[in-house]
Amino acid sequence: MKGLFINPPIYDFSAYDLWSKPLGFLKIIDLFVKNGFEIFYFDFMDRNHDFYENVKVKKDKFGCGSYYYKIIEKPEIYKDVPRRYKRFGLPEEIFLKFLEDIKNIDFVFITTGMTYWVLGLKEVIKTIKKKFGPIPIIIGGTYATFCYQDAENLEVDFVFKGKDIYRFVKDFSIKFGVDLKFPENIEPFWDVYKKLNYLVVKTSYGCPFSCWYCGIKQLEPEYKKVKIEKVVEEVIKNVEKFKVYDIAFYDDALLCDFENHIYKILKKIYEQNKNINFHTPNGIHPKYINKFVAEFLKETNFKTIRLSLETTDEKRMLESGYKVNFYEFENAIRNLISAGFSKEEIGVYILVGLPKQTPASVLNTIKILKNYPCKIKLAEYSPIPGTVDFQISKELYPELLIENPFFQNNSIFPVWQFENKWEIINLIKKQVKS
Ligand code: SF4
Repeated sequence: MKGLFINPPIYDFSAYDLWSKPLGFLKIIDLFVKNGFEIFYFDFMDRNHDFYENVKVKKDKFGCGSYYYKIIEKPEIYKDVPRRYKRFGLPEEIFLKFLEDIKNIDFVFITTGMTYWVLGLKEVIKTIKKKFGPIPIIIGGTYATFCYQDAENLEVDFVFKGKDIYRFVKDFSIKFGVDLKFPENIEPFWDVYKKLNYLVVKTSYGCPFSCWYCGIKQLEPEYKKVKIEKVVEEVIKNVEKFKVYDIAFYDDALLCDFENHIYKILKKIYEQNKNINFHTPNGIHPKYINKFVAEFLKETNFKTIRLSLETTDEKRMLESGYKVNFYEFENAIRNLISAGFSKEEIGVYILVGLPKQTPASVLNTIKILKNYPCKIKLAEYSPIPGTVDFQISKELYPELLIENPFFQNNSIFPVWQFENKWEIINLIKKQVKS
């Protein structure tokens, strides 16, 4: 049987390749490869596609960089947003050319990212319908999970909610009468790419904390670790195959149970290859960064450290899961600096736009952080359906359309409740840069 797998373009005000790959989707592809399917793959967000040979985009260090984009008309809901709206990723003509030689496809699988990127998904569905007529289309991923009802209203045949591959195998087999088997081992099928700038790896699923704004429990309800040997083998094999030197961890709780998990993984990887740089775009928990951990991260070539702080407001910290307190944060920074990390290598995420959060509270957090050797990274809050904060926002502001995926865009949500919202966001950004 033949399966066509697609990672759609992004429609948003901004997008940047910060170690961004559809990791879960690549595992689904592996499932079908191991079930004997012939695979066709198109990733609109692949910056190594031949198309980029003639297009100038920014290439950053560690394999990151900009995407090709086109400015497009804003959807009505964004008409007052004083920013340009864009379609990021390979142009549709390239996709149409790719489709020219593809015949007799049995299934089309489309992954989804942020809930408010739904226009990219719609574009792909339209193209597929036009090219193949009635063909089973299966969608999964973040939008499909958090906006399940919305997704069910699209012209697709099966919306898969969550990330449980065992359940996917069962549900898919029943729905389409295909006897899918769960293979002994599932790993990301990186061979769909000719070239990679970096790898992304996940050594654990879920998170033991329960922050009010976070949707992790809906995607990965239980905190589970992947077997150490499996992670090491996957990393070493693919680093050699693709000759990459940068690896980003996608874990949400990378340092949990440090001694028994990531410590052993990194030690084994380091024994076999000392030239790999590591990055933590998802943010790590400051509470776990003691002197030993900080020194070990430095020794094993971590180049990008992102700490999740969110706010310095103790009340809010307590309310929302208490994953960190300010003392633990200070301690982590001290340990990282004394281990040899520079200010440029340490980024601290703070959230803007939580329900009830005032601009003054955000500015105060920025002011406090300016006294520490770190780069402040603004993370604009996006209301995720099914979370405590989503519910609070709904109750506090019933007039807002927050069930609408477009409204969940972090470029507009954080400041919507203030009259002079764009001045506020500019002021916050200015304070971060100053
Ligand atoms: S610690 Fe991070 S991943 Fe865990 S629940 Fe909180 S925000 Fe989510």
